[in-house]
Amino acid sequence: MDAHPHSELNGAQPELTDDELRELGFAQVAPPNSSGIRIIIVGCGFAGLACAIESVRKGHSVTILEKYPQVKNVGDVISFNFNSGRFFLRWGLHDKLWPICGHASEFRIHNPSGELLQVQPFPQAQFDSYAYNGHRGEIYEVLLDHAKSLGIDIRLGHSVSEFWEDPNAGEAGVIVNGERMSADLVVGADGVRSTARRLVLGVDDKPKSSGYAIYRTWFNAQAAGIDRDPLTSFLAEDKDVLYGWIGQDVHFLASNCKRGTSISCVLTHKDDADIDESWSFPGDRDAVLDIVKDWDPRCAAILSKAPAFVDWKLVYRDPLPTWLSAGARLALIGDAAHPFLPTSVQGASQAVEDGVALAVALQLGGKSAVPHAVRTWESLRYKRVRLAQLLGESTRDKWHRAKPADRGAAMDLPRPEWLLDFDAEKHTYGAYAGAAAQLAREGYQMPIDTLP
Ligand SMILES: Cc1cc2nc3c(=O)[nH]c(=O)nc-3n(C[C@H](O)[C@H](O)[C@H](O)COP(=O)(O)OP(=O)(O)OC[C@H]3O[C@@H](n4cnc5c(N)ncnc54)[C@H](O)[C@@H]3O)c2cc1C
Repeated sequence: MDAHPHSELNGAQPELTDDELRELGFAQVAPPNSSGIRIIIVGCGFAGLACAIESVRKGHSVTILEKYPQVKNVGDVISFNFNSGRFFLRWGLHDKLWPICGHASEFRIHNPSGELLQVQPFPQAQFDSYAYNGHRGEIYEVLLDHAKSLGIDIRLGHSVSEFWEDPNAGEAGVIVNGERMSADLVVGADGVRSTARRLVLGVDDKPKSSGYAIYRTWFNAQAAGIDRDPLTSFLAEDKDVLYGWIGQDVHFLASNCKRGTSISCVLTHKDDADIDESWSFPGDRDAVLDIVKDWDPRCAAILSKAPAFVDWKLVYRDPLPTWLSAGARLALIGDAAHPFLPTSVQGASQAVEDGVALAVALQLGGKSAVPHAVRTWESLRYKRVRLAQLLGESTRDKWHRAKPADRGAAMDLPRPEWLLDFDAEKHTYGAYAGAAAQLAREGYQMPIDTLP
């Protein structure tokens, strides 16, 4: 098994038995509001929802503020691998999620002319967990319904305009729709264009172009006639498979989901033109087809059947020096803290891990030590997240600069055990005491300074 590169960061981690971990609270549900910790979560994406659900399980009280007045079924394919899927399982959502997800059992990787370079096995169940890959809107709805069933206070149409903290008073808060709200902790789960970052950094940091954009589409296979065209009928098989074509500075991924009834396509290509990012900006069909015009004819045949495309400009940011405000009463999680490249296939998973681990750290630290708990959480998370981000960069470079002779396992999408065989809840219970003691001993250091 690969080494867990995050583990040496926080000194010795006690080897606790499962019974000892359970004694601390692992995989247990605490009585409602038992910690006395009040949390405001800004943003009801996957990071915010996961943090809210796990926080309620750990006995905190939560309010979510979301700027959208209603939940829209926007987006296309999103992936949760074993490291985050285990929480959906633990929350009892497997039976709702599994039927709406794709179950690609293998990844078939081609060069642009259609020569098969590698067939990578893609197990969908491993490490006592499942992978959930499906339509973002459909998966989101399951989590949102679950959060509502737990009685979580979710306020839609609440766009936060200001974040503040008062370390002396031991609280932080927001201004929303003219109202001033306060809590023990504010969680900025407000996505890649986060306004919470301003309070953390003291300045506005602008996203930068990643140098790439992605044409994305998700459509109904039958209505598009996928099964009636000999060039695309392979996608209509009753077997979920992920297909990839890897070229110079371009890669195209297509999959059939839900037993061949839905088709998902993402075409990543060079694009420095714009750094605007939207999940609904329309893509130009001719521009899409132009990219694959000299490729394996199956690529154009699939793409030409899509009713529409989203032109998604992929923004990126340098790692933040810290995810916390000066008084550690505001914590950034998910994309607000660390946007991911899609080639990592970890953005949503790390957002969920962040939220779960934070809820655990707060339970272990207690209401009287919220800033210490939050700093300990950051020290446990930062390096792992950075390593996962870097994996996305190296995979993109590997694919986009592949040599004609490259094939076999060298083309695989990395699925390292240190990343996927990881339980952020269990890890936090096991590692918290050591990391908290180290922090108390050595004082707080910006986590970026702790990277090798
Ligand atoms: C509409 C939408 C569609 C997406 N579709 C896909 C997809 O198809 N495939 C994919 O891989 N990824 C998609 N993503 C991104 C993906 O969900 C995230 O990269 C990942 O899940 C991390 O989630 P997050 O919760 O950190 O951020 P996000 O999912 O971006 O959630 C952030 C939330 O914060 C809210 N928010 C922002 N500012 C404020 C404010 N001031 N006050 C209150 N609320 C605020 C936003 O409305 C949003 O709901 C989409 C994101 C969005 C918002």
